[in-house]
Amino acid sequence: MKRVIVLGSTGSIGRQALEVCRWQGYRVVGLAAGKNLETLSQQIAEWRPSLVAADKSLHGELKSRFPWLKLASPEEVAALEAEVAVAAIPGLAGLSPTRVAAQTGKRIALANKEAMVAAGPLLWQEVEAHGAEILPVDSEHSALFQALLGERREDVAELILTASGGPFLREPQDLSRVTPEMALNHPRWRMGPKVTVDSATLFNKGLEVLEAKELFRFPLEGIKVLVHPQAYVHGLVRFVDGSLKAQLGPTDMRLPIQYALTYPERAETPLKNLPLPGELEFLEPDLNRFPALEVAYEAGRRGGVAQVAVSAADEVAVEAFLAGRIPFPRIPKILAQVLENTPSLPLTWENLFAVDAWAREEAKRWT
Ligand code: NDP
Repeated sequence: MKRVIVLGSTGSIGRQALEVCRWQGYRVVGLAAGKNLETLSQQIAEWRPSLVAADKSLHGELKSRFPWLKLASPEEVAALEAEVAVAAIPGLAGLSPTRVAAQTGKRIALANKEAMVAAGPLLWQEVEAHGAEILPVDSEHSALFQALLGERREDVAELILTASGGPFLREPQDLSRVTPEMALNHPRWRMGPKVTVDSATLFNKGLEVLEAKELFRFPLEGIKVLVHPQAYVHGLVRFVDGSLKAQLGPTDMRLPIQYALTYPERAETPLKNLPLPGELEFLEPDLNRFPALEVAYEAGRRGGVAQVAVSAADEVAVEAFLAGRIPFPRIPKILAQVLENTPSLPLTWENLFAVDAWAREEAKRWT
């Protein structure tokens, strides 16, 4: 029976990953979460994992509810013996447990895009040195991964990521008055707050472009974005002869999560008979209204630690927006400002963490 670790188990991806484990009869041996006591308690009661990581503030209560429970850090949970680790702790907090999962030779079902954006080449070194594997969970990357199967890399001309366009695709034209509630109301996906606001600014798509660049080790100039409001086509590959191959399917994250867990097999799900949508649109993204996408491309062109800097700055800017401290259009401005001031340094583990800390402070100056 497959043993699975879920890092970020109480979140949107984590809960859906556990549902897939239920469907497939997998054993969940480790859970890592933050502060959601009730959801984590239900998960512990259901799965009886051998190790659990949680915020320190929960330790006393968890111990009294589950006297047998062994508490540890997310990194220790990631090091447990298991076939797969689902990496779904958002932001740079997810990087170090993901690195440990690679160092312990596991399949990583990677949801945390910020880890790949900040540390792609460094993570690949760990994966290759320890016989680990990375399977994408992000629906667009899972789509590209599936469309690339069986194809020769030299035949691929373009990777095309689709974007649903978020809640502000068509209106309001003036984004200066949008509130956190409006930004959190995504028309297609139910996700955690950070990724939902990123979808509204289109920086999420920018992070995904950078994630695709690192994950598929593909040139940035060959990675395109198309807005596709129906969110039914998740990704397309264009080949040198002009042929296009698309991966499509229901707007449901449990499918790419499951594929990352079962690959190369496909297992039945309750989603197998959903109807096709009637109409599919593909539009160019509006970079005037959503300049954050272009900031991400610019960070990718600069290379080195620039991707770390914009990703860290975005965490600070999104938090400030959600707390009501800055208006929505300030988010891309902060990203551009931080990118402008980012030192040009090569990507090493040491530089990564130093630039991450610097970029957070720099971003705070503009919030
Ligand atoms: P959520 O905010 O819903 O969940 C985050 C999870 O991580 C929660 O379990 C949270 O714990 C836990 N967590 C947060 N910080 C820490 C920490 N420092 N240490 C340990 N655990 C922590 O996020 P999502 O599930 O939406 O997203 C997870 C990742 O997947 C993100 O990187 C996102 O970009 C990516 N992703 C998400 C998609 C989606 O559909 N949701 C789609 C594609 C990618 P708690 O709640 O207990 O505090």
